Amino acid sequence: MKIIDLKFEKIKIKLKKPFVVALGTVEYCETVIVKIISDEGYYGFGEGAPFSPVTGETLDTVLLTLKDFKNLLIGQDPLAIEKIHHIMDRAIIGNTAAKAAIDIALHDIKGKVMNAPLYKILGGFDNKVETDMTIGISSPKEMAEDAKEKVQLGFKILKIKAGISPEEDIEAIRLIREAVGENIRIRMDANQGWNVNEAIRVSKALEKYNVEAIEQALPYWNLDGAAILRKKTNIKVMLDEAIHNSNDALKAVKKEAGDILNIKLMKSGGIYPAEKINAVGEAAGINCMLGCMLETRVAITAAASLVAAKKNITEADLDSFMYCQESDLIKGGFKREGGLITLLDKPGLGIEVNM
Ligand code: MG
Repeated sequence: MKIIDLKFEKIKIKLKKPFVVALGTVEYCETVIVKIISDEGYYGFGEGAPFSPVTGETLDTVLLTLKDFKNLLIGQDPLAIEKIHHIMDRAIIGNTAAKAAIDIALHDIKGKVMNAPLYKILGGFDNKVETDMTIGISSPKEMAEDAKEKVQLGFKILKIKAGISPEEDIEAIRLIREAVGENIRIRMDANQGWNVNEAIRVSKALEKYNVEAIEQALPYWNLDGAAILRKKTNIKVMLDEAIHNSNDALKAVKKEAGDILNIKLMKSGGIYPAEKINAVGEAAGINCMLGCMLETRVAITAAASLVAAKKNITEADLDSFMYCQESDLIKGGFKREGGLITLLDKPGLGIEVNM
């Protein structure tokens, strides 16, 4: 089988409301959808959702990179996924959202060729994923109201964005815990917003509110600091921006810098390299989570399939598609009830994109 065409298109979907994290504010989901077509009639969809503060990519660089990949990949076998990653990595370093778009589309094709849903192709441990729901940064009082609303909608795990002001972060968690009760799982994401001393102080203050994990408290490069923080708190230390690939995961393991690794397809360059991160984590006895950028159903279905497939990937932060206004452009992949995502038993991603 050979790749005969590779189409890509920029799409822009308005968010239901602007989303604030420590790294900035966003109002639109702007992403690139890819369609790879083979000479045997199989086609697959993929998505590249760049987030420049983390992957160094913009929409324009993703489009340019995909143009180059198109030239390199036409004529290649879409099932030769390791080979195609090798071709892409040799052509350009980084640019992982563009690589993820290709990788996801190849996995969609693989599923269709094998006539099985992607979660089974990847391991088939389960077909269900419980995602958390993110609470963006606003005043602590508003955040608590937002959290209560999300729990009423059926979400059992909340991820609280933090990292702008330690005092407000602590106050937000206090009010949120009060608003949602003891049975809701809470984790916090500081998006690199603190230094080591602040992180230790805030995590100490949060222990009494039963926060299960603090994600990327420190700048991405500070694995030594993360290792210190781990020793000073009972809350799990999660690494996100620090972990792009399996080499990063190995460094984090060697430095004993994390209790849980947050994998994102846009950081790793897709499912295939993400599986390698999980393998490193699993070998070290460290569970993984799948997170997301502002991704649509296409990339979310790919990520959810990986979570469902693997026993060692125990957590999911795959909520971004819910911030977007409804669009008829993309359909399928999964069904959702509250935070519970159930993957469809359709070949590949089970997604249709009108493009
Ligand atoms: Mg994060």
